[in-house]
Amino acid sequence: MSRGSGSWFVRRGSGPCGGPTAITAADRAKMEAGHSAKEGTSLEITFLGTSSGVPTRSRNVSSVALRLTQRGEIWLFDCGEGTQHQFLRSEFKASQIRRIFITHMHGDHIFGLMGLLASCGLAGNPQQKVDIYGPPKLHDYLQACRRYSQTHFSFPIKVHTVEPGRVYEDDDFEVTCALLEHRVPAHGYRVSEKDRPGRFDVKRAQGLGIPPGPIYGKLKNGEVVTLPDGRRINGKDLCGPTLPGRSLAYCTDTVFCERAVELAQKVDVLIHEATFAHQDAEMAYQRLHSTSTMAAQTALLAQANQLIMTHFSPRYAPGNAIELKDLLAEARSIFPNTVMARDFDTYPITRREPAALVVL
Ligand SMILES: [Zn+2]
Ligand SMILES: [Zn+2]
Repeated sequence: MSRGSGSWFVRRGSGPCGGPTAITAADRAKMEAGHSAKEGTSLEITFLGTSSGVPTRSRNVSSVALRLTQRGEIWLFDCGEGTQHQFLRSEFKASQIRRIFITHMHGDHIFGLMGLLASCGLAGNPQQKVDIYGPPKLHDYLQACRRYSQTHFSFPIKVHTVEPGRVYEDDDFEVTCALLEHRVPAHGYRVSEKDRPGRFDVKRAQGLGIPPGPIYGKLKNGEVVTLPDGRRINGKDLCGPTLPGRSLAYCTDTVFCERAVELAQKVDVLIHEATFAHQDAEMAYQRLHSTSTMAAQTALLAQANQLIMTHFSPRYAPGNAIELKDLLAEARSIFPNTVMARDFDTYPITRREPAALVVL
């Protein structure tokens, strides 16, 4: 169930391209090892569509699911036609979708949205509430679709118009976006998990004779506490190193642009479109899409940890003069830690150990 540079990926469905189906219990245990409640939710990316423009027999059009396991939430990035069918082939439920981030108004990124939302409504999940983020015209588009198809949603949907900068924040995550360079306004998104305090050393606290109780909560937060016997204890001395938050950037559709490099600075995972091969760069510049080498240069300049390429032109199907494996080789010559997404591939975003971080 693995390929490429390690066993960090699994397949999460039974798409038309075949291959293994749902993840096994052993896989899940392995992937979730090290993700205790203290460390927060585990984050997994699943590709639901990896073709540009039109679907093929093995690849649907754009959609990526980010699964926040302990919250039981899915955040969806783009929603090409047929995305709800991809949900049916995966182990996810559309009712888990809590937020949808739309990059731009081209059909291969939004034509699945109305069908997906309508089906969620028919499923009659009263708990569901969906926040949708996207360009200014998204609100009008959804309004028109609802009006002319007389579709009524039985759950609240809120459409937020995004502008470069912060688009969402809660206690654990921040989502920002930046304007990319495409034929219509397109936004790339970045999800940044906030850093978490290091692990609290309960045994050490007990060894110092600190009585258990609410005082432990203060020490866990790194506060300085005065004990009943007059000793002053700095909570930071009892906590391990800060756990760095994980991050993901999603950049599509765009030709190479500096703003994507800025958005993706030092991300753990950069998902970047690679519609064309380097040899077809002329077409990429004309249509404002990226080549595999542009995606790799973005990852390199951003000092990303991992590049996952997606949004491939169907012209590179097996048997053609240039195949997708050539795009991969081109990208790896610039940024070795690159993989190509296939529909239903799932990648956990693992937390880097504090000691592994290089402070410049
Ligand atoms: Zn596209
Ligand atoms: Zn586009």
